[in-house]
Amino acid sequence: MDGKVTQSSIRSEARRAFLALCSPKTRLLHEPVSDPYMVCGHPNPSGLGDAAPFSQTGSWGQSSVLFPNLETYRTADKCGRAPYGGAEYGIPQTPEADAVCKKIAALHKGHGAVICPSGLSAVATTLDAFSPKAVLIPDNIYGPIIRFLNRRRINQIRYPSGASADEFRSALLKARIKYSEREDLLVYIEAPGSGTFEIPDIAGIIAIAQNAKLRTVMDNTWASHVRFKPLEHGIDVVVQATTKYEGGYGDTPSGIVIAKHPQDIQIIADELRATGNGAVAPTTCSRLYRRIDSTEERLNQHAGTAERLIDWFLKQPFVTDVLSPTLETSPYHERFKRYFGKGNGLFSVVFRPDLAVERVEALVDALNLFWVAESWGGHLSLVLPVHAKREVTSMPAGHVLRFHAGLEDYQDLLRDLNQAAGCL
Ligand SMILES: *Cc1c(COP(=O)(O)O)cnc(C)c1O
Repeated sequence: MDGKVTQSSIRSEARRAFLALCSPKTRLLHEPVSDPYMVCGHPNPSGLGDAAPFSQTGSWGQSSVLFPNLETYRTADKCGRAPYGGAEYGIPQTPEADAVCKKIAALHKGHGAVICPSGLSAVATTLDAFSPKAVLIPDNIYGPIIRFLNRRRINQIRYPSGASADEFRSALLKARIKYSEREDLLVYIEAPGSGTFEIPDIAGIIAIAQNAKLRTVMDNTWASHVRFKPLEHGIDVVVQATTKYEGGYGDTPSGIVIAKHPQDIQIIADELRATGNGAVAPTTCSRLYRRIDSTEERLNQHAGTAERLIDWFLKQPFVTDVLSPTLETSPYHERFKRYFGKGNGLFSVVFRPDLAVERVEALVDALNLFWVAESWGGHLSLVLPVHAKREVTSMPAGHVLRFHAGLEDYQDLLRDLNQAAGCL
């Protein structure tokens, strides 16, 4: 056997042994511990418990949508909608997708919503739909969006992470020299930003953008509809990676775009119809539809656990800082209280700059309950290095790890951190 495979199976044994001493709640979330090599890295076993034989039944989505006669078909083809809900052709916007979009649009008090196969595709669809020549983006924007903007050759004008209204205004003024038409320039907000969680003056940015008559788009993934409703604050279009907190268990890869104005949601729906990029499995939509109801309870638990883990990290001699706007010591705490009120499971830990990277990595590799994995918002606790590419804001000195506190018992997570810290 390949050495890496053997090593992985030894680690899985260690994880199982650790889990055997955890609380029933933590065990229910993690069991069975699969070796990533055996399940291609996918954590949710197909078929849950005794329901396994039935877990795959349900609507699979159909390409063909049936019509009783030609006339109903013709009407549907013209507007892209079947008379029973859903599209006239079964690829984008199935009836299940319609249901979940209606629910989320109502929660956000938006005019309408569309669903895409991922959070990234929801952002990409939105930007393609409005096709601006340039976008004003925060320096701490979710990284993959930069790759998308580069491929589309959309110019990026960065404003600082956690920008004040004045800092945003000067970036905007610079952009306006080249992009004077409304449709040429789009204002993009993500708050708190990815990896380092700075919060800009959201209200200030919105006021300046409205004054300049520019369209505003906000990535609200961190907050979800529970912590912040951007449309109520004057944002035009909201994007949410529902892969994260709304779905909550890592099994609802999807992204939702919610618009305040009917003409905006029409432009986005037309974009999806033109590209065929809106196909999301009805099973995913159905899961998402139910999970939305428990988002707040889960978020509160994630936040409570994160708070306890942050307390622990702040006491460790190898830590210089914890990045989280929930902390009173954070320069963004006032804005945090004003806009969001409560936290979620995310925070980043800054390690002492003189600590060798190998030692930080040894700590990560010794963890039993925290998996190394991208994404966040699910039941499992996760950890990943932050390799942010900032252009107009600096990163803290020292290695930075982003943690996501899952739904496990926090005592088990603390025990895991304590045993792994022994490696430092
Ligand atoms: C994860 C994430 C996305 C992308 O969502 P995917 O479903 O993973 O494509 C977009 N924005 C933010 C802020 C995210 O954290």
